[in-house]
Amino acid sequence: MTKVLLVEDENAIIMGLKYCLEQDGFQCFTAMNGKDALFIQTKEKPDIILLDLNLPDMNGFQVMETIRKNSEVPIIFLTANLEEVSIVKGLDMGADDYITKPFKTRELISRMKAVMRRNKKNSSNLICLGNVTIDLNSAKVLKNNHDVMLTTLEYKILLTLAMNPDMIFTREKILADIWDVNELYVNDNTLTVYIKRIREKIEDDVNHPKIIITVRGIGYKIGEGL
Ligand code: CA
Repeated sequence: MTKVLLVEDENAIIMGLKYCLEQDGFQCFTAMNGKDALFIQTKEKPDIILLDLNLPDMNGFQVMETIRKNSEVPIIFLTANLEEVSIVKGLDMGADDYITKPFKTRELISRMKAVMRRNKKNSSNLICLGNVTIDLNSAKVLKNNHDVMLTTLEYKILLTLAMNPDMIFTREKILADIWDVNELYVNDNTLTVYIKRIREKIEDDVNHPKIIITVRGIGYKIGEGL
């Protein structure tokens, strides 16, 4: 279970967020001031920390500074206004991300997951294709560190190509490889459609794809120099 430490002095935010995080499968610890936050951080070793900037006893930066002396745990700042955002940006103190209140819990959770994936030191389970990363552990695809929603079939096609970046895949080979994914009948034309959809999700410019390259008359391959 992923442990999250929520450091926040507003009860309403704590209550709402704790509930949502637990619904999402996180084990949630809370602290209402910096001192408690540092204590819980040492004791529970959370996997990620949500840190309010404005706390009654010290500010979030001081809390982070202390934590950073012995931990690289991902930290997301919860900021109250744009002024605080510019402070966060300006200081660039080693927070992994920030989110401005009021925020949607969904967005926070997806950012938390992105930050934790980024922080996973085990890079052997990541395939990087330029600004797109495939995380083999979670079967997720990130573009510029944001989740890309691929269907199972789209993921499988992309993975097939990405696992062998030097290989040109004929359309027949791709179809054969993904055949057993599900009951869906995939023919030559639907493969074209799937490639187009994947490109729309991962390429910067679908008209000039750099990740999935068409090899005319043969099939597809992963672009070079990614
Ligand atoms: Ca506060």
